[in-house]
Amino acid sequence: MTAYDPNNIFAKILRGEMPATKVYEDDVALAFMDIMPRADGHVLVIPKAPARNLMDIDPGVLSALIQRVQKVAKAAVAGMGAEGASIQQFNESAGGQIVFHIHFHILPRWTGVPLRPPGQMGDKAAIAAHAEMIKAALG
Ligand code: 5GP
Repeated sequence: MTAYDPNNIFAKILRGEMPATKVYEDDVALAFMDIMPRADGHVLVIPKAPARNLMDIDPGVLSALIQRVQKVAKAAVAGMGAEGASIQQFNESAGGQIVFHIHFHILPRWTGVPLRPPGQMGDKAAIAAHAEMIKAALG
């Protein structure tokens, strides 16, 4: 498998070289809003430790990371008033991965509301408002 590239966009966000609308951060993980949300309240959760995807992440980091995914998913559902959530995680280009720093997508869901197509920039004000709703639920 290709080696981890420290110049990927999420590594730059972790280093503060690129902006992000953050909703949660601790010693293990950072959660921030997807700039092309496929659902209202679409959040990405990434580890601070470098890993390309599920194939090379340290199992201990993965265990800690999935606990953060659960925490943020519960807050995204509660804060957004959603009925459920889809969790997505892609591996390598063939698996749909575009950014090569492992990340979990949290997509709040409502009955009968389909996901939007990928690759469409979201409305900045709406994303910021959704971030505040999720942060409020995180307490
Ligand atoms: P994946 O690798 O899981 O297929 O997709 C990467 C995800 O990262 C996409 O949902 C895309 O919208 C999101 N994304 C790509 N570039 C940026 C960025 O610069 N900032 C943020 N917040 N999200 C991004």
